[in-house]
Amino acid sequence: VIIGVARETAAGECRVAVTPETCRKLVAAGAIVRAERGLGRGAHFPDLAYVDAGAQLVDSADDALAAADLVLCVQPPPADVIARLQHGAVLVGMLQPQADPARAAALEALGVVAFPLERLPRTTRAQAMDVLSSQAGMAGYKAMLIAAQLAPRFFPMLTTAAGTIRPSKVLVVGAGVAGLQAIATAKRLGAQVEGFDVRPETREQIESLGGKFLDLGVSAVGEGGYARALTDEERVEQQRRLGEHLKTVDVVVCTAAVPGRPAPKIVSAAMVTGMKPGSVIVDLAAETGGNCEFTRPGDTIEHDGVLVAGPLDLASLGALHASEMYARNVFNFANLLLRDGALAFDWDDELLAKTVWPPRPSASPEQ
Ligand code: NAD
Repeated sequence: VIIGVARETAAGECRVAVTPETCRKLVAAGAIVRAERGLGRGAHFPDLAYVDAGAQLVDSADDALAAADLVLCVQPPPADVIARLQHGAVLVGMLQPQADPARAAALEALGVVAFPLERLPRTTRAQAMDVLSSQAGMAGYKAMLIAAQLAPRFFPMLTTAAGTIRPSKVLVVGAGVAGLQAIATAKRLGAQVEGFDVRPETREQIESLGGKFLDLGVSAVGEGGYARALTDEERVEQQRRLGEHLKTVDVVVCTAAVPGRPAPKIVSAAMVTGMKPGSVIVDLAAETGGNCEFTRPGDTIEHDGVLVAGPLDLASLGALHASEMYARNVFNFANLLLRDGALAFDWDDELLAKTVWPPRPSASPEQ
């Protein structure tokens, strides 16, 4: 089997889907790995490391991908690159076919067997392939570091000859994978950390990291244990309690998301107005519209002395470790497709059957 990997071309994308470590494993599994020169530059993996790991370096994306049976990527390749893939090629990455009808159509027209990894069922067996979790961890970490950087305060308590500095009060909105990593990061920096979520089980998770659970009296668990959108009454109640609380908080990191929907708007303009000057909000949900009414994706604004940052590509800011984790996730998934150095699809395996795009009719196990 020929595996092709090209440089990522999306703006701000520094991660890579195959690292020298996973390249070596793919080669050991019998694959030929064709890698575009400069592939790992953004994530600090030099070409020589890929050569050492057994890759064939080629000069262009076309050379890497045109004859590939299996293409591994982070972001979906541009439409013109997809158009030059082999008929029936297999494509694995964070492909988001629903986000772009033209891309979905191009994949379908070429008979590409696409595995958008964000569709993986989040079962125990899939954890080693769960790119949403591995990348959210880096995003939560970076979001909190950006908050610490923007804040005009120390995070930790300091006792100095110039007097005592009180620790910053940090609130994390949404305690999924990113939120919990943000809490852990703020804690390590010495802040007083609180978090809240609409899933009640997050109380224990927040507390186990040394944070305090902020109880806003709203519980909203939906399908698959994920959060569901709040009803109007629930939202009003959450907002009333949160607005009061935010007056005492120095730093807010927002991470709330509901699968398949735009980010819930949780921090309103009025709440921001009520915050102390010098407070900072970093909205990790900016990518999907933001949890704060003032969030401008990719930008930082100031409102009444409060900074509101909506950084994008957070996981890419930690491209080296984010790539190491992503590439291991991808390798573990690719391993489901490789049998004795060739591609084989076991459609009885729900990790394949539920991830593949276009979705398979559930009653057709044969391929
Ligand atoms: P996510 O990115 O979809 O959402 C982030 C968080 O925002 C979630 O915790 C959600 O409950 C919260 N949220 C949504 N609306 C909110 C609101 N109005 N107010 C406050 N918080 C709100 O979530 P995620 O980090 O991808 O994962 C969350 C879920 O997935 C959890 O149940 C987690 O245990 C599960 N999970 C399972 C596995 C696995 O078993 N393989 C792996 C990762 C995650």
